[in-house]
Amino acid sequence: MNHHPNNDIDMRKLLLNAGSAAMIAFSLVSVVPQTNAQEVYRTCVNYNLLPAYNGEDLELSQTSEGFNFKLWSPFAQEVKVKIYKNGVGGEAEKTFNLTPDKTTGVWSYTSNEDLMNKFYTFQVKVNDQWLDETPGVWAKAVGVNGYRAAIIDFSKTNPEGWENDRGPKVDNITDVIIYEMHHRDFSVHKNSGITNKGKFVALLEDGTLSMNGEKTGIDHLKELGITHVHILPSYDYNSIDESQLPSNQYNWGYDPINYNVPEGSYATNPVDPYSRIREMKQMIKALHDAGIGVIMDVVYNHTGITEGSNFELTAPGYYYRKREDGTFSDASGCGNETASDRQQMRNFIVNSIKYWTEEFHIDGFRFDLMAIHDVETMNEVARIAKTVNPSAFVYGEGWTAGDSPLPVDQRALKENVDKMSDIAVFSDDIRDAVKGHYTDETDKGFATGKPGNEETVKIGIVAATAHPQINYKKGNNSKFAYASSPTQIINYVSCHDDLTLTDKLIKSMPNASTEDRISAAKLAQTIVFTSQGTPFMFAGEEVFRDKQGVHNSYKSPDSINAIDWNQKKEYRELFDYYRNLIALRKAHPAFRMTTAKEVAKNIVFDNVKESNLISYSIKNNANGDEWKEIKLVFNGSDKAQDVRIVKADWTVIAQDGKLDKDGLGNTTGGVIKVAPHSALILARTK
Ligand code: CA
Repeated sequence: MNHHPNNDIDMRKLLLNAGSAAMIAFSLVSVVPQTNAQEVYRTCVNYNLLPAYNGEDLELSQTSEGFNFKLWSPFAQEVKVKIYKNGVGGEAEKTFNLTPDKTTGVWSYTSNEDLMNKFYTFQVKVNDQWLDETPGVWAKAVGVNGYRAAIIDFSKTNPEGWENDRGPKVDNITDVIIYEMHHRDFSVHKNSGITNKGKFVALLEDGTLSMNGEKTGIDHLKELGITHVHILPSYDYNSIDESQLPSNQYNWGYDPINYNVPEGSYATNPVDPYSRIREMKQMIKALHDAGIGVIMDVVYNHTGITEGSNFELTAPGYYYRKREDGTFSDASGCGNETASDRQQMRNFIVNSIKYWTEEFHIDGFRFDLMAIHDVETMNEVARIAKTVNPSAFVYGEGWTAGDSPLPVDQRALKENVDKMSDIAVFSDDIRDAVKGHYTDETDKGFATGKPGNEETVKIGIVAATAHPQINYKKGNNSKFAYASSPTQIINYVSCHDDLTLTDKLIKSMPNASTEDRISAAKLAQTIVFTSQGTPFMFAGEEVFRDKQGVHNSYKSPDSINAIDWNQKKEYRELFDYYRNLIALRKAHPAFRMTTAKEVAKNIVFDNVKESNLISYSIKNNANGDEWKEIKLVFNGSDKAQDVRIVKADWTVIAQDGKLDKDGLGNTTGGVIKVAPHSALILARTK
């Protein structure tokens, strides 16, 4: 721990300044000159001296005593709850004054009145000033735009059969195939054939077809064969005005307001607090009924607004990290960063994960800018998720978007993933090596003909585990085998951020034909889906979806972001390649090893001198596979390359841009020509 020498003094200043009964309860007795509390909040406080509260009943719970309001607010002088008839507008019907607890920093009040279906806000007084009203940080139901929390009967939000609902059983994360999608992208296009466009309940519609007759919606997911959808932020976020839905606003949603409530713009009626909760549960059940798990993208690392956020309005100065000069630190690049290393923020994140897993049956979590969080918090997150749902798993971005006061060795970085046994990280190594650098649009990668990326692709193939034939010092990004197990790596070539794979191929192969770009796309994804680790794809790439070259489409209109499902017919052959690739991976455990030891033993790279050529075998009936040996050759260059294959009875699984897990034909080995931007996969059982 970095212990600032002035921590204790500043703490006393802070407490003295707040000066209420609650403050005295924290038993700091020194007398120091009074200062402006707002200034003190920005200084370096030893937050470990503050009381924390471990209970799961914060803000609102219902017991036989009545409705219990409990707000954790250790700096407050006074706290009120206001009760409203509606989610917005009108005067408060009642106001309750809360009483502080001496040991926990929690203010509470129990009402035995019938408050069901009312709305409420908290209001906190600090530094002799009443802050703006807030629904708190723990609201589980809200009115339109999340201004006020709602008191609802949760039993009325459960779809029929919910008590028996569960997601697919997952023994190892490497068995999972992740499909990252945004609700609007997936269903909003006029060609989707879906009625509830951009809504949670779009996934309830079966039998939907594109205008030219291909399956869309949930039927498309089943046809493709993915195991889990990863939905972009689906908690209540700020950037869309839920009272103006006909204006068709678009946003990715990385600006959280109410972390424990679904987003209203994905509901059919955001004014009704039941609607968003019930419909998200219906969506989850529909996916579960189809055998598909649901992963939520969670963004605890920052909020959309800073001053005036629910965190600042409940416990100002506590939830965000600050720099030595008192300004908000900004490792998120979004204006702030939260402080998971402080106990109450850690409790908040862990309890929130537990809540989504229990109440919504969520099967996994993707942590945005995970390295803003500390290792201890992430381990606790993985533990709690698995405690509730043994099939649940957690992965995240093992980096930050800027510097942080959190010491590097405590950050949940990909380079620290050996300290987090049940967490996986995205491999930017394989991503950039296969298709070219993510910020340099015209840069090529291994699959598009740029030499020098071979060793980094190999790092991807072995899921960044230690392998005797790889020289990690030649890696483009990380220079060591950072993963202690292939279960800690998510492999991908594209996601919602940056150019889609299609757009990247257009920018980096400007003179190539569409056919050549499709070849490169197939090769890139073949590398991802046959590598050790867990494969991840961006929705729509199976139909060659583009975003017209827009790399940061977070608020671009539907015309940029929507997937045109008529393309599924146009690129049916590419879609079938993806489908067959997924089927290949699911049928063969050799691609899904679970220990670094197995990977090191069973994967053998061939000695290849040519650029943009990788040849390797997965041997020894790896991980119980029926295939004794699988030979994989990747040719990323613009010209055909010859490889020499050992003489044996091989079945051809992939060649010249075609792939079939049951075999395209047979060969006895020898010299085989591998087409430009293509994969050759052979298998033998003896
Ligand atoms: Ca919202």
